[in-house]
Amino acid sequence: MIELFRERFGSAEGLRVFRAPGRTNLIGEHTDYNMGFVLPVALDLATFVAAAPNADGKLRIYSEQRNELLEWDLAAVAGLKPAHQWTDYPIGVAHELVAAGIPLQPANLMIRSTVPEGSGLSSSAALEVSSALAFLAGRPLDPLELARLCQRAERNYVGMPCGIMDQYISVFGRQHSAVEIDCRSLGHRYVTLPAGITFVAVNTMVKHELAGSAYKDRVQECAAAVAGVRQKFPDAQSLRDVTPAQFATVAPALPELIARRGRHVVTEIARVGQFVEASSRGDLSAMGALMVQSHRSLQHDYEVSCAELDFLVDTALKLEGVFGSRMTGGGFGGCTVTMLRPDAVPAFKDAIAAAYHKQFAVIPAIYPCNPSEGAAEVKDLS
Ligand code: ADP
Ligand code: MG
Repeated sequence: MIELFRERFGSAEGLRVFRAPGRTNLIGEHTDYNMGFVLPVALDLATFVAAAPNADGKLRIYSEQRNELLEWDLAAVAGLKPAHQWTDYPIGVAHELVAAGIPLQPANLMIRSTVPEGSGLSSSAALEVSSALAFLAGRPLDPLELARLCQRAERNYVGMPCGIMDQYISVFGRQHSAVEIDCRSLGHRYVTLPAGITFVAVNTMVKHELAGSAYKDRVQECAAAVAGVRQKFPDAQSLRDVTPAQFATVAPALPELIARRGRHVVTEIARVGQFVEASSRGDLSAMGALMVQSHRSLQHDYEVSCAELDFLVDTALKLEGVFGSRMTGGGFGGCTVTMLRPDAVPAFKDAIAAAYHKQFAVIPAIYPCNPSEGAAEVKDLS
């Protein structure tokens, strides 16, 4: 990366490299913006930003994936408006840094990523967090503030009303652990997964157009569900504040669609706790069953799945050594995550790729989900 950086920008003087990982969410989908629980792992797949100061008062950002270089006068960056393209992610971060009182410095940035874009493995948060570290260039920022600042960038500048999960896990990921995040308190605990299992993500290779608008619709539908819940539980601030049993008592008075949306969220929040508990007992079949319940709830109640995701889940569940499978990420394409025995992985990969290709004429990419460390500077540049 150093050689390429020097070729592109003329100098690599003062170069530093920052890494931020993508993620797979094991369970707890569409619960983060409802202040509930999630259980993601940070992945080996990550975004790297190489950054060096320049002496000409510019901000330059180059993406290898896009083979595109953009350049601005540093003084103009704070006044930029969203361009509805990939640069909105780093520029949104730059805006939030300025808003937080952290001035920008003239710099050249080079982005390289192994996180597939738009696949539900959160290339967006990986880009935001690695860009933030590159802009900071070693200036300190509290890790929780870093995650929240990057979330604000996506909400305020990109215009996606996302929860905190993706940015949080990119910052707080840990090797060998899943991370149970309380999206209200913003605390977390590390969850050591039982021996004898592993997780793989299978990519549908599609992202349906609906993804962005449906996400915004779901955020609004959840707000409508909360308004309904308040009729009986006036203190409820979010769907986090009612149990599935309490929600069932108000659901009949809600419009049918809102009742289903709410039911997904309240049962899904409960499933995260049940999954962590089953994990601590080493109850692999209970963990797998909860993943399948999660998928069915996303498929039928929340309606964010699609034919490709359903096919991958249904196919996985027929294969040797599989405990459970579900869509992961926002939905409408992207990836599934499957829990299976490590020795079953090679045959699983062959079988699921062959079945998917036969059905959709596309070879799905398959990624191991080894829990990795959260974002940091890469010290060894060799
Ligand atoms: P996901 O986060 O699931 O990958 P999103 O739609 O949230 O999907 O974010 C994907 C977007 O992030 C891309 O369309 C692109 O704008 C931006 N992005 C991610 N990685 C890169 C990269 N390496 N170079 C340029 N843009 C990127
Ligand atoms: Mg994203």
